[in-house]
Formats: sequence, structure tokens, C-alpha cells
Amino acid sequence: MRIREPDYYKAFRCLAGACPHTCCAGWEVVVDPETAARYQALPGALGAELRAALIRDEDGDWCFQNRDGRCPFLDGEGLCRIHRRLGPEATSLTCREHPRFIEDYGPFREVTLSASCPAACALLLGSRDPLTFPTRETEEPEEPGDPWLEGLVPLRERMLAMLVRRSRPMEARLQALLDWAAAAQELLDRDLPEALADLPEPEEPRARLPRAEDLLALLETLEVLEPDWPEVLRAAASASPAEVPEPLQERVCVYFAFRYLLKAVNDGDLLSRARLCAAAVTVFSRLAAVCGAEEGLRRLSCEVEHSQPNLEALLDWCRGGMGLDCAFR
Ligand code: SF4
Repeated sequence: MRIREPDYYKAFRCLAGACPHTCCAGWEVVVDPETAARYQALPGALGAELRAALIRDEDGDWCFQNRDGRCPFLDGEGLCRIHRRLGPEATSLTCREHPRFIEDYGPFREVTLSASCPAACALLLGSRDPLTFPTRETEEPEEPGDPWLEGLVPLRERMLAMLVRRSRPMEARLQALLDWAAAAQELLDRDLPEALADLPEPEEPRARLPRAEDLLALLETLEVLEPDWPEVLRAAASASPAEVPEPLQERVCVYFAFRYLLKAVNDGDLLSRARLCAAAVTVFSRLAAVCGAEEGLRRLSCEVEHSQPNLEALLDWCRGGMGLDCAFR
């Protein structure tokens, strides 16, 4: 099977106890059924403690009940007691995979590192080179893929190539992304995915860029993961956008575009995901003005990418025109 990862993937190292924003706080850790079964059978004091901490969340999944907003197994040094006592393989799948987002498309798999992790975010914004996604082969057998991938994969490749072409300002590239996605959406709506691969970039504008104010107002209505997020949003609403170098804006856009555009294979909605990418770049500059580029992106990723209800609400907002009274799509 082919696996694609960002070019900085191998450089990633978890900061463990030195992490200023541990991923073991702020959200409940879901425990996969296999790991939960192992905990149910584990003898000794740790086994009893694990069983006492396991609860069912509203979706019926096992998770650990947080204590003061933190995983109960996070020790005073910011390290995981399960990892320390039983080894990494005894932690839940969520913990073993984090901060990786893993998408299986059948013939290939795509892996990204969540920008909510400070170490991953520093790698993403630690270079001004165009972000690339090398492919490696594994022994794992390929599965058949959705036929729509044949049109969507080449289209997304061309969109990614356009986004890193620096002869145009970033705003023009975001506009081009939305115009292209709007044209592609018409083909998807007419069930013509095979026409996507050769779809030319439109010459006339067809879509509008999102406004940071509208997105900040929407974000204020969503679930809060880190407690001071509403304050950050209010400060961002009255801040002038930071002058984030365009290569960094580009890397943020490509990060989101790689991660989200291909998910249109699941529901045929490419345009909303392109809007999500443009919206993320727009609001990133405002958040960067409040807490710096790395922390601004980390906060955005945490609140949006690690809450399914928030991500769905954001996509709904993109689907509805992003608060714009649009004559365009
Ligand atoms: S947020 Fe990233 S660096 Fe921090 S503990 Fe989690 S994986 Fe490690």
C-alpha cells in the first residue's frame, strides 16, 4: 500500500513531559474496545484504577473520565502512567496515534500530524519551503477505492500545485482554489466525477473569500476545548491581521487542503472543504496577531480539528455560504 505523509513527518518527536500543551488534557481520551477489554482483565491496583476511570461517553464509546480537565493517568511530570508502567502498546489507539490523523482511502493511506500538537505545529511552520507529501510503499495489501477517487485525486494534486505556485499573491491563490472548487462542485453535483481530472482552473471569479469576522463570530458559538479560547477569539476580533509571511500562510493552506479536500469522496462536498481551507488561512492571521503564528494555528487546530461537532458546524457554515450574502456559490 502507498502511504503519503508530510515531508517533516519523520522529524516529529513527542515532547512528552516537556510539552506545554499535553494532549492528555482538555478532552476525554476515547479507549478503543480492544484496549478497554485489556483493562477490564488487568490484575492489580492499576487494573482496578483503570476500570474505575472507564466510563461510556454520549456515543457509547469507552473513555476516561477527566479529573480537573486532565486524563487521570497523567502524572505530575506530564507523563502517562499507563505508558510508564505497561509500555506504549498498553495505551489506547487514540493515544498511540495522536497527533496523527490517518485516512484510509483503500489503495492508499494519508497521514498528517495535527497542528494542535506544539511539536507538529513547530515543524509545519518551521520552514518556508513549499510543503510536500512524499509517498512510501508498504507490504500491506491495497483495498479497492471509491471510483470518485480517480477524478478527485488528480484534481487535488493540481490544486496543491497551484497553491504553492508563488508567482501570485496568497489571496489570489485562495481565490483560485475557491473558484476551481466551485467549478468542480458543479461536476460533482451532476455526478460527473470523471471530468474532474482535466477540469481547467476557471478564468472568471465564481466564489467569494470568507471574512475573518464572520468565522470568528461562528467560532464563538461552538464547543470550547481550551478554557481561554473565547478570550482569544474576542481579542482576535478586534485585532488587525498579523503580517504572517506568505510562505507560512501557504503551508497552513496546504496542510488543510491535503487533509480535507479528498474527504469529498465521502459525501461529494468539495466546495465546503475548499472554503474551510480558505477560512482557516483568513482567521489564522487574526489569531497570529493575538498569540503568535505557531500558537494561533495550534489553538485553531485544537478547537476545530479535535471536536467533531465543531468541525461539522464549520462545514455547515461553509456549505451555507460562510455568512456571506453571496451572488456567487
Ligand atoms: S501534544 Fe504533541 S508533543 Fe505534546 S504530549 Fe501530545 S503528542 Fe507529545
